[in-house]
Amino acid sequence: MSKNNVEQYKVTSEPFYKSVEDEVELYEAAYKARMPMMLKGPTGCGKSRFVEYMAWKLQRPLITVACNEDMTASDLVGRFLLDKDGTRWQDGPLTTAARIGAICYLDEIVEARQDTTVIIHPLTDHRRTLPLEKKGELIEAHEDFQLVISYNPGYQSLMKDLKQSTKQRFGALDFDYPLEKDETDIVAQETGIDVETAGKLVQIAHRARNLKGHGLDEGISTRLLVYAGQLINKGVEPVSACIMTLVTPLTDDPDMRETLEAAVNTFF
Ligand code: ADP
Repeated sequence: MSKNNVEQYKVTSEPFYKSVEDEVELYEAAYKARMPMMLKGPTGCGKSRFVEYMAWKLQRPLITVACNEDMTASDLVGRFLLDKDGTRWQDGPLTTAARIGAICYLDEIVEARQDTTVIIHPLTDHRRTLPLEKKGELIEAHEDFQLVISYNPGYQSLMKDLKQSTKQRFGALDFDYPLEKDETDIVAQETGIDVETAGKLVQIAHRARNLKGHGLDEGISTRLLVYAGQLINKGVEPVSACIMTLVTPLTDDPDMRETLEAAVNTFF
């Protein structure tokens, strides 16, 4: 594997990540043991940013795959391609990560079909291997390779959940929206708006998060607060910025929108 191939996956500059508890130390210990990790928490609460930060801190290349229900095992492992000289094998992202010793982050793995999920099994136990069945090759994972998955506990139905045989291959860290002060700092830092305005956005999010399960499937994420702050920083009037980023994406229900708009109007 060429050096350039490794270099392109390196996180070159330090990502801004505000640690909330002892997750950085715990992850470092898990990485030392090359333990597969599961990051649990709602969408937009900082899981991906955390992985980027850890990859930078540990100086490992990072390969991220956004999983979806149409994804097949070949999308992860690789496939034969036809070109003018005949057929050529192309490694998928998981295979590349196993070869070069990257951290492979499978985002929202639950979205993938179960037959896709099981291909990670031999990589996540003592074998640390990945069979490329179509190619007839068995890859032994590089000693620095680590598998990380994200998992949103809110979304699962009985039909769509990880099997225990998959879950029990991972150590897990719980993530949630940061505490008020931390989230305010994050929004201010990420967007350039002042702390007072960032604090108001966080307050609106707190109101909305209380509505989870009472008409809202999920509360306002930190990611959406960052969007709101970015628009405000570009000069958009705060109420319009909030409606565009904190109300409209969240729900189509007119009553719920009215409730959220009222929360926005309380603060701006
Ligand atoms: P997830 O992977 O959980 O869906 P992300 O990691 O993409 O969410 O987080 C969404 C955004 O929220 C990030 O791009 C970043 O701006 C912000 N964010 C959330 N938590 C943190 C944190 N602890 N430190 C820095 N930024 C954060």
